[in-house]
Amino acid sequence: MNLVFLGPPGVGKGSLAVRIASEYNLLHISTGDMLRAEIAAGTELGRLAEKYINDGNLVPDSVIIDMLLAKLESESASNGYILDGFPRTLNQARELDKHVRIDAAISLEAPEAVLLDRIANRRVCPACGKGHIAHKMNGRLCDCGAEVVTRDDDKAEVAKARLETHNRLTAPVLDYYKDTGKLISVDANDTMEGVANKVQRILEELGR
Ligand code: AMP
Repeated sequence: MNLVFLGPPGVGKGSLAVRIASEYNLLHISTGDMLRAEIAAGTELGRLAEKYINDGNLVPDSVIIDMLLAKLESESASNGYILDGFPRTLNQARELDKHVRIDAAISLEAPEAVLLDRIANRRVCPACGKGHIAHKMNGRLCDCGAEVVTRDDDKAEVAKARLETHNRLTAPVLDYYKDTGKLISVDANDTMEGVANKVQRILEELGR
């Protein structure tokens, strides 16, 4: 089964995708993670992507579509995959459909105030990459001993710009999947456990 997870920044898409992918033995492909790896490795693609990411903008379609399609070709995903953070524009959604079959697009939804609050509380470990929630931490250290940080693009001004970009460019992607009968909306203003249960029920209904 090939799934797309859609949702604004802060909705919990990434953590949920990791969890569902592991439970259903699906490959988890996050374009945000791929870009951050390129930045960390100092590649040309990473240097190009960084300025868009740090301004809260999308990386151009011409770059991201090729990167994603190359990844899909290089990976073996016989049991299917979850695309996390792709497609984010109508053009990306159309290009994706030219190359692969998507079974369902799961749209995670929550009010903007909830999203901004979650982003403000999000921390990441620069050493091992593990995600944390600030108000649930005891101190500032990750389990691996490194001090957690706020992702540059989670800082308040950039977070607002990312939400604005999402509303402007990614909202039409929801209509695209609605029109093709593949959109399934999930209320994500809930605990991680609650949202995961809803998505599990949906996947069972889809015939997993
Ligand atoms: P994420 O971790 O999914 O929130 O992605 C972080 C940033 O990477 C986004 O704010 C975009 O700048 C960029 N990015 C990730 N996926 C895409 C995509 N499908 N299209 C364009 N830019 C992307």
